[in-house]
Amino acid sequence: MIRINDILDKIVEYYPDADLDIIDRAYVYSARVHAGQVRLSGEPYLAHPLEVAYILADMKLDRISVAAGLLHDVVEDTHATIDEISDIFGREVAHIVSGVTKLSTIPLNSSQARQAESIRKMILAMADDIRVILIKLADRLHNMRTLQYHKSPEKRMAIAQETLDIYAPIAARLGIYWIKQILEDISFQYVLPEQFANIKNLVDQGMQEREEYIETVKSYIKHKMDEAGLKCDVVGRFKQYYSIYQKMVTQQLEFEEIYDLIAFRIILDTVPQCYEALGVLHSLWKPIAKKFKDYIGMPKANMYQSLHTTVIGSFGERIEIQIRTWEMDRVAKSGIAAHWSYKEGRSVDEKTGEAFAWIQNLVENQEDFKDPNEFMENVRIDLFPDEVYVFTPRGDIKSLPKGATPVDFAYLIHTEIGSRCTGAKVNGRMVPLQTELKTGDIIEVITTKGSHPSKDWLNFVKTVKARSRIRQWIKVQEKGRSISLGREMCEKAFRKYRLNFNTLVKTEEMPKIVAEFGFKDVDDLVADVGYGKITPLQVVRKFLPKSEAEQNVEKEKEDNSLFGKLIGRVRKKKVNDGVVVKGMDDILVRFGKCCQPVPGDSVIGYITRGQGVTVHRAGCIHAMKMTPERRIEVTWNKEKSETYPVKILVRSYDRFGLLADITANISKNGANILRANADIHESNIVDSYFTIAVEDTSHLNRILSSIRKIKQVHDVKRIDD
Ligand code: MN
Repeated sequence: MIRINDILDKIVEYYPDADLDIIDRAYVYSARVHAGQVRLSGEPYLAHPLEVAYILADMKLDRISVAAGLLHDVVEDTHATIDEISDIFGREVAHIVSGVTKLSTIPLNSSQARQAESIRKMILAMADDIRVILIKLADRLHNMRTLQYHKSPEKRMAIAQETLDIYAPIAARLGIYWIKQILEDISFQYVLPEQFANIKNLVDQGMQEREEYIETVKSYIKHKMDEAGLKCDVVGRFKQYYSIYQKMVTQQLEFEEIYDLIAFRIILDTVPQCYEALGVLHSLWKPIAKKFKDYIGMPKANMYQSLHTTVIGSFGERIEIQIRTWEMDRVAKSGIAAHWSYKEGRSVDEKTGEAFAWIQNLVENQEDFKDPNEFMENVRIDLFPDEVYVFTPRGDIKSLPKGATPVDFAYLIHTEIGSRCTGAKVNGRMVPLQTELKTGDIIEVITTKGSHPSKDWLNFVKTVKARSRIRQWIKVQEKGRSISLGREMCEKAFRKYRLNFNTLVKTEEMPKIVAEFGFKDVDDLVADVGYGKITPLQVVRKFLPKSEAEQNVEKEKEDNSLFGKLIGRVRKKKVNDGVVVKGMDDILVRFGKCCQPVPGDSVIGYITRGQGVTVHRAGCIHAMKMTPERRIEVTWNKEKSETYPVKILVRSYDRFGLLADITANISKNGANILRANADIHESNIVDSYFTIAVEDTSHLNRILSSIRKIKQVHDVKRIDD
């Protein structure tokens, strides 16, 4: 528990000559009037104002703020009055306490009008004295940290939701990111407990490995900066849970695809050093052009400054790095509070004035908006720059994340409308479903009875609701499909051993076996056979007498070694790596070695028995022989940069150094050679075969035309194996 001396010590640290009398007196007064009151945690009530005052002291705010922090609840919760506060502590403290008190009477309700009213009150209070909001944020921070003591789950959820809706965005807008992050992470636990637990679990799993990784990268950067004569601190930190979650939702990524769970920060003394450090990084690692942002040259509206860059690290991973000075770091951590610190009274410097300008603006404009909703419109656009506001044909306003589409809108209205949506009119005109909506658009959704969601929608929807509903639908579809495929595979495999799958399913033995595999019912087991996760043989074996089953293991080993030979012919791939299989998630994907598809080729997938999907080039002879029912649409995943083997033939006259020339040419073009051999014909003609790893067809074509230019080379072409 925080004691008053902790607070006083904190202030003396940054403000050695401070007259702390007012804080002492505020403490004594607060202790007296709150005496006997108890928090839900069972602690004396006084612990709360002490915690709040400590947070304010930690933000290096002036002593008036700290004193007001100690007194922030006395008018609301005790017999104390504003007049009394004013008499004892002066008008300034009383004014702030009164501001905080007014804000605490805002009802907790998620209805839009009330929320609008809450935010309007907050903004007005902010414009009046920013310290009111800083105290309110500190108050909310401590209340969130002790939210677990609230008995009612509904109340906890409502408070957490309000924190996400109102307090976290305000903290962000004021540039106080540390408060924003804590508020978000705590709220996340209560608002979406399952998602929170899930992400926390995933983050914890690889923790040790990641910690080692952080150390490696940190010391490498430090070493390189030292070499360049740049004195700096390097920090590596994990992203907060909520921001990982948001990234997964907004960018539609799986956890494994989130490369920047860890962010690095380099802190230096001067601005020129920052740019120098950037140069060093970019010469070490390849930067991703789109990701570079210069917030030093162009600070954010809340005064945030830093250079942001993302580079491709030594393991091919993306590394997110921020570069800033110590002063920028201070501002980035405390935002508007950084401009307030050390200052007594309400005079603000020019910089702080700029940071205030948007608040002043809003307040001046609010005279024009008699309707709180209309005012809210404007505040929202400023406070939540990542949202758009659109209208139903009846004129109801709906908010959606930036980039949202008519499909998101349809799901927002109702799940049924979403899943039956076949078209949309924006402002009276028909538009494609992936059209990005803009603030002010009026949207009319067109639905058709009996129509279904499309997996393609996942490529553009932005809201959690749309995404999860579409996924849910696909899952059901996929499962149905896998069950019938899996059943067919089981029936065949069982027949081979003179067993009848359909009879055995009904026996008492079946539920036991299902449980042995770790499933709840037969359908789940059969579906996994269909997905290719379990072989039908594994299931058959459970029904064979023991000795036979053992023999069978041998047989399967044989099968596997045969398969092993085949595997030389196919490369194992996990789903979503290089290709996307239409209508299916989580399925094993292989590439036919017969035709070696590379990105850019038009491709087709085949569902193979128990081995997932094999991808062939559209014209591949082997592929054409396969039954059309097993065909499935596949597309290349453009986001992934992988390499694929492809075989080429180089026909040339034999000459000294020819092979060296060709290999040099291939590696000059950035491809690895996986295999090479040559046939020399009598006529002194050499056929050299290379298997090379290329990124896509254009990479391949570049290499082919480059080899074509080598002296004595006749012909270069891609060939089937
Ligand atoms: Mn309070």
